[in-house]
Amino acid sequence: MSTHGMQRDPCCVFPADGKTVTKDLFELKPVADGVYAAIAAPQYKINSNAAVILTNDGVVVVDSHSKPSAARALFQEIRGVTQQPIRKLINTHFHWDHWQGNEVYAAASSDLEIITSERTCYNLTTPDVGVGGVPYIETQLATLPKEIEQLKDDIRRASSPELQARIEANLQQAEAFLEELQSLQPTLPTRTVAHATTLNEPGREIQLLLLGRAHTDGDLFIYLPKEKVIATGDAVVDWMPFLGDGYPEDWIHTLDALAHIDFTHIIPGHGAVMTKESIAFFRGYLTDLIAAVKQAAAAGASLEEMKPGVADQLAPQYEAGMSKYPLGQYRERIGVNIEAVYQKVVKKG
Ligand SMILES: [Zn+2]
Ligand SMILES: [Zn+2]
Repeated sequence: MSTHGMQRDPCCVFPADGKTVTKDLFELKPVADGVYAAIAAPQYKINSNAAVILTNDGVVVVDSHSKPSAARALFQEIRGVTQQPIRKLINTHFHWDHWQGNEVYAAASSDLEIITSERTCYNLTTPDVGVGGVPYIETQLATLPKEIEQLKDDIRRASSPELQARIEANLQQAEAFLEELQSLQPTLPTRTVAHATTLNEPGREIQLLLLGRAHTDGDLFIYLPKEKVIATGDAVVDWMPFLGDGYPEDWIHTLDALAHIDFTHIIPGHGAVMTKESIAFFRGYLTDLIAAVKQAAAAGASLEEMKPGVADQLAPQYEAGMSKYPLGQYRERIGVNIEAVYQKVVKKG
């Protein structure tokens, strides 16, 4: 089902400038009164963004990052804003970088509710559904030592002291991540939703929406109708999407459903807070990518033959807008995006 194949860094992970593990993990940005986006700093071992929603008797958090230490760092930041307990944690989808910190919130609040979609709960517990879930922890534990060896090798062959220092920082992150994974206590949702559901928290209406398949088959959207804010998980990101566990054609329809909702601000799965207008660019990329791959296939091109042409064809419109961060840039991801569309859209037909 997943097409990530032999990639060393699946899902949303891209080699990037390493920083230290504990410093500069997040920036907590107010999006509305009592609503914050925890925007993850670009890191070699990536973290998802989180949303932090204050209510009159507690806090609701959306997504828990890739590791307990990151969740702990955000938990401390939340403590700087309110002493209220965390009542609810919502996981937008099953990918590793959005739920592997769940245990931190469960340990801090004995009556914590962890909510996700029915489908995501299935994905979290079922082998071989993609780059996340309990079985995927074993996969990470098996591949990380090889990744660490590769980084050590890269350090030995680095052509400059600057490059060497950068890879060394990445190595530190990889080693620390492996250590955390070895003692990870997978903490699963306690409540699932199969249809749109409203959480009537004191002083805050929070809608949980299922708008269709997109980045995964279980994407959950968290919508605050009064504040006009929506958290999308990776169904909308501010860099190149990961299509490996996605449904490219459905995704476009799901984005159309999203566009019908009344909001002004998006807390995306990765990257900075976005406006509603930015959906058009993201949707345009998916639409044009699918059209270009279909067209190249119809003209008789093989997958390998079409890659450079499609990449260059879409670059004028999308390369700059998709390359704003040191992670998830256009040229890094366009090849695997083309491959995913080829496998999922062209070959399936
Ligand atoms: Zn992600
Ligand atoms: Zn994801």
